[in-house]
Amino acid sequence: MVSEFLKNVLDTIKRGVELGGFPEELYKILSKPERILIIKIPVRMDDGRLEIFEGYRVQHNSALGPYKGGIRFHPEVTLEDDIALATLMTLKNSLAGIPYGGGKGAVRVDPKKLSPRELEQLSRGYVRALYPVLGDQTDIPAPDVGTNPQIMAWMVDEYSKMAGRNVPGVFTSKPPVLWGNPVREYSTGFGCAVVTREAAEKYLGGIEGKRVAIQGFGNVARWHAYWLQKMGAKIVAISDTSGTVYDPEGINVELAMKVKNETRKVINYPKGEKIHDPKAALYVDADILGPDALENQITMENVNKIKAKIIVEGANGPTTPEAERELAKKGVIVVPDFLANAGGVVMSYLEWVENLQWYFWGEEETRARLENIMKNNFLRVYKKFEDMRTEKKDIVMRDAALVLSLERLYEAMKYRGWL
Ligand code: NAD
Repeated sequence: MVSEFLKNVLDTIKRGVELGGFPEELYKILSKPERILIIKIPVRMDDGRLEIFEGYRVQHNSALGPYKGGIRFHPEVTLEDDIALATLMTLKNSLAGIPYGGGKGAVRVDPKKLSPRELEQLSRGYVRALYPVLGDQTDIPAPDVGTNPQIMAWMVDEYSKMAGRNVPGVFTSKPPVLWGNPVREYSTGFGCAVVTREAAEKYLGGIEGKRVAIQGFGNVARWHAYWLQKMGAKIVAISDTSGTVYDPEGINVELAMKVKNETRKVINYPKGEKIHDPKAALYVDADILGPDALENQITMENVNKIKAKIIVEGANGPTTPEAERELAKKGVIVVPDFLANAGGVVMSYLEWVENLQWYFWGEEETRARLENIMKNNFLRVYKKFEDMRTEKKDIVMRDAALVLSLERLYEAMKYRGWL
């Protein structure tokens, strides 16, 4: 039995292969990872017990370069979901135009239940178990749910000790002092803002003065809002689990960040209307909507309440496929997640390039490079989308992005002689 998540990912590839007119063999090769590793990680707990944790690393496809994808620490991870996530990384990295294949790792653990020492032992144990198949030219992990720059620092230290030299490029999203880059903190939200600006340019005549509603106020959402405000947009709504703040006059994002950091609740923002429904941000009067909190937020149940003309998916999977088709009928453009929120992985690529050459660009230059890549990626997808929909009416932007991603993979594998 294949899990529903994996089945959905495989169905997506199947649809893309049909849509792009690629040979069936492309699906065949992408439907299975190149390598799956299941590991046991022993950790001596603080109370003296020996605990054995199960972990995975799925190396899905390496046609375009070393495997790249995060490591998740979560109590409910399964191997099948890890395979699905690794497959999605292959598609995302291909679309982003960076020289990486797709991979993903996981450990079945609730990191909140571990002491800092136990967490460090687990992180180092993960690297020891996988040392032969990781490397700055082979497989380059990054943080994901439940992991962070501190964990990357322990991992890069463990790997470097085993290699007998510093190997900065084997993990990305490290603390800046350990060869990371300060742009990483806001890279996903910044990338979302760049893509939003470009979409507004094409479909609304520019970003200046456009009203933007953002669902969420976590890492992606707050930086999406912050950079859009800097680019001239008016942020009219933000939200978190405490509720939604709506102010048609515009929210001061820096002040909202300060309030959220100090009180943990966005609803304590001193101005505007307070609505005790975290989903209300989706429905306010706005030109652009950023669903930046979590998956399955825009569904057939609430799709008719959405007023925005452009939706930029900062979160992964916030719009269900049925709701997306419904929005398309009304002329709403949905910029798909694997294009919009690729700023994090593109930043990982830039950090890796810095690490390989031991030369660091600094914040401004790195941000300019990130902006350039995100802008060009949006423009490529936009062009493909407009070309495709002159021929076939019910095309959404996600279809065009999928076909572009598969096109690059197909060409690489054809030249290599795999297909
Ligand atoms: P986060 O935990 O920092 O933030 C999530 C925010 O959503 C929190 O502020 C929370 O209060 C809020 N929230 C939860 N339920 C809500 C609801 N019903 N309505 C409104 N707000 C709600 O997480 P994040 O890193 O910002 O990730 C958000 C999404 O973006 C996830 O889908 C994640 O997979 C995706 N993503 C993140 C990155 C990244 O670099 N952080 C990269 C790509 C994709």
